[in-house]
Amino acid sequence: MPEKDKNHQEGPDIRSNLVKVNIDGDTIFVDSNQYKPQVEHAKKLLRQKRLPKNPKPQEWKAKDYSLDKIADYKPFNFVDGEGVRCSLYVSGCLFDCPGCYNLAAQNFNYGTPYTQELEDRIIEDLGQSYVQGLTLLGGEPFMNTKVCLKLIDRIRAEFGHEKDIWSWSGYTWDELQKETSDKLEMLSKIDILVDGRFLEAKKDLTLQFRGSSNQRIIDVQESLKENKVVIWKNLVR
Ligand code: SF4
Repeated sequence: MPEKDKNHQEGPDIRSNLVKVNIDGDTIFVDSNQYKPQVEHAKKLLRQKRLPKNPKPQEWKAKDYSLDKIADYKPFNFVDGEGVRCSLYVSGCLFDCPGCYNLAAQNFNYGTPYTQELEDRIIEDLGQSYVQGLTLLGGEPFMNTKVCLKLIDRIRAEFGHEKDIWSWSGYTWDELQKETSDKLEMLSKIDILVDGRFLEAKKDLTLQFRGSSNQRIIDVQESLKENKVVIWKNLVR
């Protein structure tokens, strides 16, 4: 006859090897002999279960949040869009996507102020004949419209449409259509929008320039002309 365990059930105490772990407010039990792999696995599953934030139209206004700060500037790179590009990473994002590729840049106060000196340097870098254009990412470029519009307007004044402008956004195309005038102005002045939050459950590292399959590479000017989403013509995958 098996002994009764401390939970007054027959058989051995099946929880005797288990350790209680709290991961961001969720309680799980893991086998103490496999603590690390089980915690890592549980973290991954919990991340997949969580979703980014969904703002109401015009709920988040750039003027209420942006501190006009820059998380990073990377000239002459090949990874943030087509061709050789100069990338400006602005600070601050409220979408809070689990698995965000740039956690530090979610903070509006992260990094350094945007300066005229930096803007002049970006213009000089873009002036190189082998550079195709500027990429805006973050953080959330559409929550930093003051800085982004200043730079976009300068680029158009200096180069016209000879250099293209790409922007990433956690907002989808449809959401941006219902947004504030500064966001709409910025959208109307760029060439390519990579839209939508990063969704861990749809993560796919084989996609061009995006992290999850819900995100789209949108030809902004064609989409505005046709009043519907037109996907970038050079999309391979
Ligand atoms: S939208 Fe981009 S920057 Fe913002 S939380 Fe999501 S992945 Fe991070």
